[in-house]
Amino acid sequence: MYRNFSIVPNIIFGRGSFNQLDDILQTKRKGRDSYIVFVLDHVFRGKKLEGRLPLRGKDLLLHVNVTDEPKTKYIDQLVAEIRASNPVLPDGVIGIGGGSTMDIAKAVSLLLTNPGSAADYQGWDLITIPAVYHVGIPTLSGTGAEVSRTTVLTGPEKKLGINSDFTLFNQMVLDPELIAGVPKDQWFYTGMDCYIHDVESLQGTFLNEFSKAYGEKSLDLCRQVFLGDHPDRDDKLMMASYFGGMSIAYSQVGACHALSYGLSFVLGTHHGIGCCIAFDYLEDIYPEGVREFRQMMEKHDISLPRGLTKGLDAAAMDKMATVALGLVPLWENCLGKDWQQVMTRDRILDMYSRM
Ligand code: NAD
Ligand code: ZN
Repeated sequence: MYRNFSIVPNIIFGRGSFNQLDDILQTKRKGRDSYIVFVLDHVFRGKKLEGRLPLRGKDLLLHVNVTDEPKTKYIDQLVAEIRASNPVLPDGVIGIGGGSTMDIAKAVSLLLTNPGSAADYQGWDLITIPAVYHVGIPTLSGTGAEVSRTTVLTGPEKKLGINSDFTLFNQMVLDPELIAGVPKDQWFYTGMDCYIHDVESLQGTFLNEFSKAYGEKSLDLCRQVFLGDHPDRDDKLMMASYFGGMSIAYSQVGACHALSYGLSFVLGTHHGIGCCIAFDYLEDIYPEGVREFRQMMEKHDISLPRGLTKGLDAAAMDKMATVALGLVPLWENCLGKDWQQVMTRDRILDMYSRM
């Protein structure tokens, strides 16, 4: 069976395109008493971008804290806050920030219409009611969260996305000017998330011409961004992220993402840096990708933290391996149907112990 998947229907791209947000939202505002919720990454509190938000009337501005990656509990809390401030549904939820903030906006828009806790919907196609209209505006590029049909959340029991067609944004605004001020290390880690999406998609057994077309273009753009010196590198990275997301939408990620999920669940390691740490140990599986990744690290003078798992007890190490091994489709994409014979628990524990 081939997947019949939805994509984000409306996209605006270009420097300064953020200025058109007000016009876009005008067409969604239902009346004088209705309102829109702006979910803004806390890094922009009191900054110029906050002043440029097209707030009107009863609109609500929420500064979201992304020090930790989004948790289901935090989503429930934000939804309660919105309901307490105004009992009617908003006309829209606008997420402005990196992958974490965009995921928060997606999850909030879903939980405003679907009853219960965000944790109830972690999984595949558990959402039944369409979300409130929602818009994604990246200020950091690489995750592909702007195009994906998931919002990755850490719940009480698992780190797993709310995967559904309703999760997809209705609109994205891709304005490369917004990513200009990202600190170098963060820019690199999140950019490498995109590079690794491409490598894992292109080397995976699930590969097809659809994913290949997007993955190859994204990889080419990543090389221009991270190995070249281009004045328009922000435009390129923004498109690389989009294409990388489209590539994995119809294939899958692989070993590196599986390992990074384990790190994240047990140690709270953030996605981008966690992928970089794990990728550096995967030369056996992705020899060319890892070699090129190291060139990119050298060019941008990036050094990765080491000794992450030092001092962890056996139970914590085991939990990490269990989380990683549980991501069956990722391993199957990476190593084929017989992956369990190749990627044993001992091999995973050995890799983790060296990280
Ligand atoms: P992030 O959103 O966690 O942000 C990282 C840091 O960068 C934060 O401190 C943030 O405040 C800061 N930041 C963001 N924009 C900035 C700017 N313009 N200038 C200065 N600082 C800025 O990082 P990320 O790597 O974009 O996202 C990671 C998250 O995305 C994880 O939670 C991960 O699980 C999720 N993710 C989701 C998908 C998906 O398809 N939904 C895919 C991959 C990752
Ligand atoms: Zn990723």
